[in-house]
Amino acid sequence: MPSEKICQLMKLKDGFDQIFKKMKVTDHLKKAKETLFSYEILPPLKGASIQSIYDTLDPLIEFNPPFIDVTYHREEYVYENRKDGLLEKKSVRKRPGTVGICAAIMNKYNVDTVPHIICGGFTEEETENALIDLDFLGIDNLLVLRGDPIKSETYFTAEKGGHKYASDLIKQVDGLNKGIYLDENLKNSSNTNFCMGVAGYPEKHFESPNLNSDLHFLKKKIEYGAEYIVTQMFFDNQKYFDFVKLCRENDINVPIIPGLKPISTSKHLNVLPHRFHLNLPTDLVNEVLKCKDRDDIRQVGVEWAVQQTKELIEFGAPCIHFYTMGNTDNITKIMSNFS
Ligand code: FAD
Repeated sequence: MPSEKICQLMKLKDGFDQIFKKMKVTDHLKKAKETLFSYEILPPLKGASIQSIYDTLDPLIEFNPPFIDVTYHREEYVYENRKDGLLEKKSVRKRPGTVGICAAIMNKYNVDTVPHIICGGFTEEETENALIDLDFLGIDNLLVLRGDPIKSETYFTAEKGGHKYASDLIKQVDGLNKGIYLDENLKNSSNTNFCMGVAGYPEKHFESPNLNSDLHFLKKKIEYGAEYIVTQMFFDNQKYFDFVKLCRENDINVPIIPGLKPISTSKHLNVLPHRFHLNLPTDLVNEVLKCKDRDDIRQVGVEWAVQQTKELIEFGAPCIHFYTMGNTDNITKIMSNFS
């Protein structure tokens, strides 16, 4: 006969299981009666503790995000001066820890996490092993990406024995979902159960010759097994509305989650177009240029994002995904308008 204390613990565990049922992103979207809100966070710089992630997330968790994305950052090359005066090329990973952070967040907050996985820097074998780790940890949501060229490259170069495009990586994950591992001799191998999202670009991917070509390859990603799209950030909602229309005309019928980022410094006026290949509306740029200080700029960024969010909700966006880039006070301000 279990003691009273054990019975209480068993009840607690049952309660816990009921409160946190791991779900796929697509199931969250299907179940939702209104527009959801999710966040993307970055792993901290190497040397920082997991507490910095909790400090970032604590204020956002209050708004009950259905899932949290954690970005993946591959190695960069730096040159260090050697004693003999020559330069030594060293590979460094400034923001490791994506998988560990996902597991820690699920454990601490009982919320689903979506690790980003990329082609760059991985052989197929390394990818398979990373997917096995994720599967063992019970993480079955992924955002599947190619990754950008590293700083020392002009064009993206696939790892020898790795994937060139996100669509190839999707095929590998889809294979694993069907129990197909790289070693064909494996017997009785178990299937994984990954739900895959992919990136979409309302203002076109920077390498693509035109939007139609980009949509052609976006459609391939869906045909190979991706189940939803998260867009690159945009500041003019019309770009998203047009993109959704074009996708539907091209028979891309999966949910398309808009990605938003509030402007918070005057540097963003140049950094965001440079880094993400997007346009900033004239009205927004003028408002930022009129600001006297950083607080004013942050307020403009928040108000612009609130307006974008209201219109996107009205349009029927399934979920709004905020790129935090490590800043949450402005996201919290935006969210307080919708809770
Ligand atoms: P792909 O879908 O492979 O497309 C890349 C380019 O190739 C496009 O121009 C496409 O049109 C073209 N193309 C695709 N397939 C083919 C083909 N078979 N033949 C010829 N051309 C083809 N990067 C990171 O490093 N880490 C992250 O965590 C991360 N998170 C992101 C999250 C979101 C929501 C977004 C939008 C981007 C993210 N990125 C991240 C950046 C992303 O890796 C880059 O934008 C990258 O340049 C393209 O990735 P992709 O998955 O869209 O590539």
